[in-house]
Amino acid sequence: MKVIKDIKALQNISDYFRATIKTIGFVPTMGYLHDGHTSLLQKARMDSEVVVVSIFVNPTQFLPHEDYNEYPRDFLRDYHICKNYGVDYIFYPDMKSVYPDDFLTEVRVKEISDRLEGIYRPGHFVGVTTIVTKLINIVKPHYIYLGQKDAQQSIILKKMCEDLNIDTEIKICPTIREKTGLALSSRNIYLTDEQKTEATVLYEALNEGKKMILDYKVVDTDSVKKYVSNYIARKSKNIKLQYFAITDSYLMNEIENLKNYKGDVVLSLAAFIGKTRLIDNIFFNYTN
Ligand code: AMP
Repeated sequence: MKVIKDIKALQNISDYFRATIKTIGFVPTMGYLHDGHTSLLQKARMDSEVVVVSIFVNPTQFLPHEDYNEYPRDFLRDYHICKNYGVDYIFYPDMKSVYPDDFLTEVRVKEISDRLEGIYRPGHFVGVTTIVTKLINIVKPHYIYLGQKDAQQSIILKKMCEDLNIDTEIKICPTIREKTGLALSSRNIYLTDEQKTEATVLYEALNEGKKMILDYKVVDTDSVKKYVSNYIARKSKNIKLQYFAITDSYLMNEIENLKNYKGDVVLSLAAFIGKTRLIDNIFFNYTN
């Protein structure tokens, strides 16, 4: 396994593999790897001849008041994890090489970026789509592996690749959870043990929402939203729900009534527990 810091060097390596018809699988991350990330490494390892992981805490996707400075970082730990999972290259660039002083460009996927997470984290997705475009141009992957955990991010990146004819296939992989149901996240280290226990209510609430729709055949999504919000309030004193949404899985448009709806439904939410903001979601297929 090699660690590459230089952009041009990695582009040359990628050109070589593309020219020799070797498939490149890419897993973009902000490091502090956990089993959610390693599930993506495993998928990439199974599908591709060359596996590239990037480790870069991207400042432009954090809002000024967010946790960019506190975000956990441990390159040595990540290095050993990548090595154990058979990664071929870690791309670990310096800030200045990614964002030189005269950097001016932004990539923005309209509409989807402004809803749900975009309402509470304005500008976040522009940071994501811009850095991922850069990473794609550096790694030149055939496949990119993303977690369903960040559903809106994955959906936006899929749309971006479709709209910009980017020759990379996005593969969205299932959310890895603790046995309790809590979705793994690098940010879970901010939680105390009690908060971790309390946070399991979020996944429970998503499943309660799904049950209302699939088992109890509730089609009016406002009723489902009210039920889920009350469920969380009832089960936990310390969780503050920021939003709970019921959307489609293509553009994440809100579904008002499921009566005439067919296709994938995404239930997604964001909530604060103490100062930590957590997101989670579930997908399921809906036919009337
Ligand atoms: P991050 O390091 O948080 O930027 O995440 C890098 C990638 O790992 C993203 O595609 C995430 O969606 C994915 N990821 C994060 N947590 C999980 C999880 N619990 N299960 C599956 N994928 C995840």
